[in-house]
Amino acid sequence: MQVRKLPRGDEQISVIGLGLGIAQPGDDVTTLVEQALARGINFFDLCCGYECTYAKLKAPFAAVPRSSFYTQLHLGATYKDGVYAFSRKLDKVKDTFLRELDVTGIGYTDFGMLHCIDELKDLDFVLNRGIYELAQELKAQGIIRHLGFSTHNPAIARKLLELGGFDLFMFSINAAFDFKQDGELALGATSEREELYRMAEAQQVAISVMKPFAGGQLLTAASSPIGVSLSIVQCLQYVLDRPAVVTAIAGATKASELDDYFKLFTATPDELNYGAAMAHATQAPELKRCVYCNHCAPCPKKLNVGLINKYYDLAQMGDHLAREHYLNLEHHASECNDCGHCVKRCPFHCDQIARMHEIAAYFGR
Ligand code: SF4
Ligand code: SF4
Repeated sequence: MQVRKLPRGDEQISVIGLGLGIAQPGDDVTTLVEQALARGINFFDLCCGYECTYAKLKAPFAAVPRSSFYTQLHLGATYKDGVYAFSRKLDKVKDTFLRELDVTGIGYTDFGMLHCIDELKDLDFVLNRGIYELAQELKAQGIIRHLGFSTHNPAIARKLLELGGFDLFMFSINAAFDFKQDGELALGATSEREELYRMAEAQQVAISVMKPFAGGQLLTAASSPIGVSLSIVQCLQYVLDRPAVVTAIAGATKASELDDYFKLFTATPDELNYGAAMAHATQAPELKRCVYCNHCAPCPKKLNVGLINKYYDLAQMGDHLAREHYLNLEHHASECNDCGHCVKRCPFHCDQIARMHEIAAYFGR
């Protein structure tokens, strides 16, 4: 494993981190984390899609010295009926954060993240209605070792960097999101995003990267938003080449999936070279694609917007199991009431109202 030092700290962070957001309730997350630790992954993003996942982390984390791994725990990721949701209510944010610390047994978090601040009103809420203050109190108590934040919006990231006091932030980076000049595919134009990475580097603030594969869409030409595919190792190398980046957080649901990520360390220079493929990148006709992140949750009709989109994309690409997975979901696209909540929340400008109608017509539910 290769490591990178946190600029404002002694932490030596593995360049591949593990994200647990895509794990489903039935997944063997305990073995996954055990294997990750055994193979040298020491950075874990603990924003889970399901609250039950946290309990599965206790045993693998207890089996190794606490100082041998680093965690990101989020102030604002909350759970409704056990499923990921999002809240700015101070009591709920605090209770969930402390419960997660307790259930995982980690005692403290290396990085306490102000969660998913994508709009100015979010920023105002977090800074002025107690959550930022709570993070500072937890830091003073040693429960948070470093303050951080997560966002998809370069303008918000700049504002928080100007505020100072943060040692790391989580940002969505991949070749597709950085590619478009006008910011149509993700928030921020290419130049604004590059400027952010350089600002972070100049201020010695590290970046942990989410969405290194654009939700898997960059991995095939058919699904790639820029018309060309990159391999897993090319996606990882692209992210690790950006200024200030210390780790690329890759999602997994089982231990065997880690093998593909570790090819980063044995790949030849040609295999790592993303530049040649990027030279043929185009603006694909369909932009604003869902990357299955569920940042738009909670849906008032309890639709799992990310999974519904994922199964639809997979089904269209010929995955025969995807239809069955979709039909097994508790709630289906046909239940969407066009309320628009997810459209307002989506950092990638997806029009999910139109999408839900399309998906319901495709699957017949
Ligand atoms: S609609 Fe947007 S926020 Fe919701 S899952 Fe898709 S990409 Fe994420
Ligand atoms: S528009 Fe549909 S999918 Fe989106 S939040 Fe509303 S009900 Fe849920």
